[in-house]
Amino acid sequence: MNRVLKNKTAIVTGASRGIGRAIALKLADKGYNVVINYRSSREKAEELLKEIEAKGVKALALEGDVSKFEEAEGLINTAFEAMGSIDILVNNAGITRDGLVLRMKEEDFDKVIEVNLKGAFNCIKHVSKVMMKQRSGRIVNISSVIGLVGNAGQINYAAAKAGIIGMTKAAAKEFSSRGITVNAVAPGFIETDMTEVLSPKVKEAAINAVPLKRMGKPLDVANAVAFLVGEESSYITGQIINVDGGMVM
Ligand code: NAD
Repeated sequence: MNRVLKNKTAIVTGASRGIGRAIALKLADKGYNVVINYRSSREKAEELLKEIEAKGVKALALEGDVSKFEEAEGLINTAFEAMGSIDILVNNAGITRDGLVLRMKEEDFDKVIEVNLKGAFNCIKHVSKVMMKQRSGRIVNISSVIGLVGNAGQINYAAAKAGIIGMTKAAAKEFSSRGITVNAVAPGFIETDMTEVLSPKVKEAAINAVPLKRMGKPLDVANAVAFLVGEESSYITGQIINVDGGMVM
């Protein structure tokens, strides 16, 4: 572990499972203190907290719905008060409510935009005060290849994830003079609870569309995030890195 980093703090939203969990663990491995945000799974969050602490860094688990402006504000402020700085924000929280346009309910469209897009804005908005004052910071937003190429049955999710890409570029330009970089990772087809619900037929078709012929692991995404928050990427901002086995190129 890199002890030099021991006072740097990362906050990862939606971190109790899947990709967020892998990111939290990877950043702890790198020596960052980690604040994990979760929406409802306290038990899983507490388990993860112990795993992170066992790596010798500070950890904190904070419940909160990032789609709610005040909850996101409370999350950032509590994390800052407890840790003394927030050096990294990873906007990972996300949901799907799939359906063809003709059948999609208005609330399913709104909910996906609220969590996946507005949730990222809420956290960026509140963390920006902290990072601008520090004159440093790293923000990584988790988008999706669906935001680049679209997908039938995911008009809400595609819009939110494409929105994340625009948001990433706008924020990168706005914050660059303060030493803050903003990038996005666009995962392809990753083995998590989100994709576990897909039928074997859909999964097979998806794997066939991947040149590397396998689903990605949460760690594949976490590795890209770790790169984007580390020293080696200090000259990279406003970029989207696909982690998709070559699905979109
Ligand atoms: P997941 O469902 O396992 O994890 C999502 C996490 O977000 C959960 O822990 C959930 O509780 C949390 N969350 C949901 N709504 C929240 C809210 N309002 N506030 C706080 N937390 C909330 O899914 P995952 O596959 O690990 O997805 C993580 C991210 O990666 C998501 O943004 C997803 O869209 C994106 N992504 C996943 C894939 C994939 O193939 N799995 C592909 C591309 C992008």
